[in-house]
Amino acid sequence: MRNIGAMDQDCYCCPICTQLFIAKAIDAGILTLEHAPPQKVGGKPLALTCKECNSAAGYSVDSAVVQKQRQIDFTEAIMGQKSNYKGRATFSIGENTLNIDFERDQGITSIKPIEEINDPDKLRAYQDYMMHLQQAGKWDGQKFTITPNAKYHIKYSKVGDLKTAFILCFAFFGYRFALHNRLAAVREQIINYKEDIIDHYWHTSDPKVNREHFLFLVKKPFSALAVKLDNSTVLLPWVTGPNDFYEHLGEYFVNREPVNFDGLFFNWPVSLEMRLDYMKTQTQNLGG
Ligand SMILES: [Zn+2]
Repeated sequence: MRNIGAMDQDCYCCPICTQLFIAKAIDAGILTLEHAPPQKVGGKPLALTCKECNSAAGYSVDSAVVQKQRQIDFTEAIMGQKSNYKGRATFSIGENTLNIDFERDQGITSIKPIEEINDPDKLRAYQDYMMHLQQAGKWDGQKFTITPNAKYHIKYSKVGDLKTAFILCFAFFGYRFALHNRLAAVREQIINYKEDIIDHYWHTSDPKVNREHFLFLVKKPFSALAVKLDNSTVLLPWVTGPNDFYEHLGEYFVNREPVNFDGLFFNWPVSLEMRLDYMKTQTQNLGG
């Protein structure tokens, strides 16, 4: 904060809501570690955020990201692309629907009805049917469906990805980036996650992109940051570039034609690097 001239004493600024806190806020539990992506999907602790940002927006958007990942994992387990998975699901065959534990362990799939949360009649019908199959010694061809219990809020999961991208870029570039005017709408969207403040920031990743995770500082056709997450790519404004960044993006994507980007790749940060705040030569190299 001193480096960017915002404060002359030790303090910490929550990168999302921009409120300032003194060091005691950590002991008081007002500032807590923020994982990007959320811890449950393997994120690293990269920054501190304040309790308000962490509990209000944090809980809803993070759990949507986690539930979405559960659904993707489940789909991959069903398709045989993932050899280990365990979770609740529903199993439907004919008129009968049951709550089951679905498990894929070392490539072997098993389903097990959960006694406590199923109608005893339905459970009996299922057991009779399984006995019938066992006696016949083969599957009778009747169709069945298995549906995961992991449901998620699509919009919240997208805001969750936006938050992950923002925290990753804050950790990498620092306050000069996170507190920049051009990022104000992004911060506002993360806090007011139920509202539609910005659009066009979230994109399904192109399957031809084979690098799993990266930050990409776009230089052409306009300045921007692209953050590649597990299954999506989030676009953020850079400190230079179009003023109405997301409106500008909207015009680009309106024709739904492919857009080619030129720029620089960076790996995801593993700690608070804050390059724009500390490394003056780097700043010039980054075009800031
Ligand atoms: Zn905050």
